[in-house]
Amino acid sequence: MTEHRSGFVAVIGKPNVGKSTLINALLGQKIAPVSPRPQTTRRRQLGILTLPDAQIVFVDTPGIHTPRHKLGEYFNQEAEEALAGVDVVLWLVDAGTEPTDDDHRIASLLSALHRRPRTLILALNKIDLLPADALPSRRAAYAELAPHAEAIAISAARGDGRDDLLHLLISHLPIREPEYPAEQVTDLYEREIAADLIREAALTFLRDEVPHSLAVRVDEYTERGSAGAFIHATLFVEKISQKGIVIGEGGKMLKQIGSAARREIESMSGRKVFLELRVKVEKDWRDDENALRRFGYKIKK
Ligand code: GDP
Ligand code: MG
Repeated sequence: MTEHRSGFVAVIGKPNVGKSTLINALLGQKIAPVSPRPQTTRRRQLGILTLPDAQIVFVDTPGIHTPRHKLGEYFNQEAEEALAGVDVVLWLVDAGTEPTDDDHRIASLLSALHRRPRTLILALNKIDLLPADALPSRRAAYAELAPHAEAIAISAARGDGRDDLLHLLISHLPIREPEYPAEQVTDLYEREIAADLIREAALTFLRDEVPHSLAVRVDEYTERGSAGAFIHATLFVEKISQKGIVIGEGGKMLKQIGSAARREIESMSGRKVFLELRVKVEKDWRDDENALRRFGYKIKK
């Protein structure tokens, strides 16, 4: 009989390096929103991959970045917390560019941890963007930041190195029974995923004025049997001018966001969805702890 391995893998890295893309690809199912804009992932989320001989529980963390607002502090707290008690830290970097200040900051955060994770793996992602002969020097530049890490080159989007990465992760997990039932893929409720998918759809269509000021709350998520699900959600922005942008001329933008989000939620939930969106101004919500709480962010003193 083969031994069963199981454990937690924290996926860290600056925003936009492909953490959510990788987790979705490994799970073979979309549980985390992906966006060309940073900070699409706002909550910590588990992605559970159950294989015959192993169960890997991925912890997707909001990108570690310089705190600028209260929301920024929240991201850092979440990232630090995610590293405590995991079996492996998987640090994703963008092989398409040289290391940046953010990468240096993550490197020093990792070396300053009190309780070191058992294993650090450095994954150079997006190697599809890099000519093959440029990889060795790029790999060396990142390896300098994490001298004790095992390094691996992958493309989360194209699939290169995915199986090797899985085997590497599993080899570092302890021999242990599975933590979660085989059919469970994530720990978020459908309505929370729906809120993230609506936000993702909005970020896809909106210009740069709005993104970081946008929060989504699902006000109602009602099952109507074979008729499908009825969802009512509010998009919160910080300024009147942003409200106009989100609604668009004659409501065109909001309609576009709504139908894209509806398609994503339907494919996530596997049933028909009726989606109603509205837009509200909530002034300076990013610096308002009460507003953050109402939007589902957990604030710790
Ligand atoms: P996160 O912020 O780290 O979770 O990053 P996302 O998963 O949201 O990805 C950010 C962007 O990078 C998206 O536009 C992805 O499609 C893109 N991306 C992710 N992985 C790859 C990859 O391997 N190659 C390329 N070319 N793009 C990728
Ligand atoms: Mg993400």
